[in-house]
Amino acid sequence: MSTLEIKDLHVSVVTDEEPKEILKGVDLTIKSGETHAIMGPNGSGKSTLSYAIAGHPKYEVTSGSVLLDGEDVLDMSVDERARAGLFLAMQYPVEVPGVSMSNFLRTAATAVRGEAPQLRHWVKEVKQAMAELDIDPTFAERSVNEGFSGGEKKRHEILQLALLQPKFAILDETDSGLDVDALRVVSEGVNRFRANSESGVMLITHYTRILKYITPDFVHVFAGGRIVESGGSELADRLEEEGYVRYVGKREGAL
Ligand code: ADP
Ligand code: MG
Ligand code: MG
Repeated sequence: MSTLEIKDLHVSVVTDEEPKEILKGVDLTIKSGETHAIMGPNGSGKSTLSYAIAGHPKYEVTSGSVLLDGEDVLDMSVDERARAGLFLAMQYPVEVPGVSMSNFLRTAATAVRGEAPQLRHWVKEVKQAMAELDIDPTFAERSVNEGFSGGEKKRHEILQLALLQPKFAILDETDSGLDVDALRVVSEGVNRFRANSESGVMLITHYTRILKYITPDFVHVFAGGRIVESGGSELADRLEEEGYVRYVGKREGAL
């Protein structure tokens, strides 16, 4: 049983001008086996939350803490975060020309597991995980993310999830840019991951559509850099009907 604990997290984005405070006191605790959906309007700070936990240098934590089983995550290097069992899709390079997917994945698995997986087992593991995600076998030999479509990038994200089996996965806009078929395949991948492991999932999304496939245990509404309301999966249904108007005081998308 593991716990990811975010306490009163304040984060500023470092720009050319004054640092701008984006996160204004985020409190959230996720335990093994729980899936938490974070939902909120564009620009509310959802991605900032994931970047801050990933250790992106542009996002400065000015106060508060992130603890994984009591260990200070913010003190860890990006590699140490992965080894501690955190999976943050965006911590991986967007494009790495010249490095094949299979090599990239094996390197990541070696870092997380502490030893290189045996080549023969590894090849089987990757093949099976790719088949489950409907990924073309030639994908393994392509360069990392080079020329991948939006859907392929998302499948790759879930492939990593399946192979790395982290304690906590933070998935930011996993549903964006997916057609209905890809959305189903990706959602099934997330659900398989949830069923096979004791992992916790933070599923960040702007839309309720992925929640038709993945039923979260908790839904949190994110607005103005904070969690402003929490509930069960029924809260997502209300958001589907009402949007975020009541939280931002104006119609979603209005400037
Ligand atoms: P969301 O993911 O909820 O759409 P973001 O976390 O991406 O929200 O953005 C929150 C706010 O922080 C926005 O106003 C955005 O413009 C600003 N912001 C985020 N990252 C940066 C950055 N690297 N440089 C400047 N502003 C940023
Ligand atoms: Mg579970
Ligand atoms: Mg975002």
